[in-house]
Amino acid sequence: MTAEPPNTRINEPEARRPALVLVSTPIGNLGDLSPRALAALQDADAILCEDTRHTMTLLAAHGLRRRLIALHDHNEEQRSAGLIAAMQRGEHFALVSDAGAPLIADPGFRLVRAALAAGLPISAIPGPNAALMALALSGLPPQPFLFHGFLPPRSGQRRTALAHIAAAEAAGFSATLIFYEAPHRLAACLHDAAETLGDRPAAVARELTKRFEEVRRDTLASLAEFYAEVAPRGEITLIIGPRPEPAPLSEQSLDEALRDALRTQRVRDAASSVAERLGVPRNRAYQRAIALRAADDVGAPD
Ligand code: SAM
Repeated sequence: MTAEPPNTRINEPEARRPALVLVSTPIGNLGDLSPRALAALQDADAILCEDTRHTMTLLAAHGLRRRLIALHDHNEEQRSAGLIAAMQRGEHFALVSDAGAPLIADPGFRLVRAALAAGLPISAIPGPNAALMALALSGLPPQPFLFHGFLPPRSGQRRTALAHIAAAEAAGFSATLIFYEAPHRLAACLHDAAETLGDRPAAVARELTKRFEEVRRDTLASLAEFYAEVAPRGEITLIIGPRPEPAPLSEQSLDEALRDALRTQRVRDAASSVAERLGVPRNRAYQRAIALRAADDVGAPD
């Protein structure tokens, strides 16, 4: 089966005009509003937006006037039913957030879920997104990645959230991690991440697509130190590399750990505890423990 060729008719409406179209908008540079995004905004009966003043500025920059309806975290649940009814009567809406892709750490999920439940056609105009741009610029492995959005603002809860990721990593999960963070919490967040996840490569992407765009790449601990000295400004996305692969355990280190354990434990128990602690296969530890005991390298426990 051959894939359909790309649609080269840039602004032509889709065959089935969606009831709701999710439109990505710039994350700092007004020039990043795509021609299709502009056409979708123009084509909508009304634009659902987080902050009407903010969206008005975007529309004005492109010489556009449209009816705006506020849709944000505090009214989305309550507004969704009315908006779905309007779509069922044939109205067409575009959904934008203040910046970037709607729904991504932004409102819209509840409305999308309600539209799907009502069987309404939905679509999206892809475009700017801070998480993916930061990931691409970070120099860290682009996939797999885990987009977390914002961590809790308080250190205790933030550490708990990071500890959940560390536990998943200890169980074998491995991915580059993406977080949104406020500038005044960046240093504390980097510090908590270094302590909870262990020091590792990371990148702080600041003010992407804007005049003072910057990506600083270093280890978590060094970045924490830097931003504790130099308070960052602007919008920030934090990328943390995957947990470094532990260096393979040498025979010598395994033998040392087993000798130590065999002084107080039986072969099977010593092998189990060492295997678990050092993350080596149980059978490998067991075979070495038997060999050490047979060589009478270590005496039996009392
Ligand atoms: N929906 C947006 C997107 O697709 O990127 C994200 C919205 S979220 C409420 C806003 C957060 O995204 C900011 O606090 C910051 O962490 C990150 N962000 C947004 N714009 C950014 C930029 N220009 N540079 C770096 N991070 C940015």
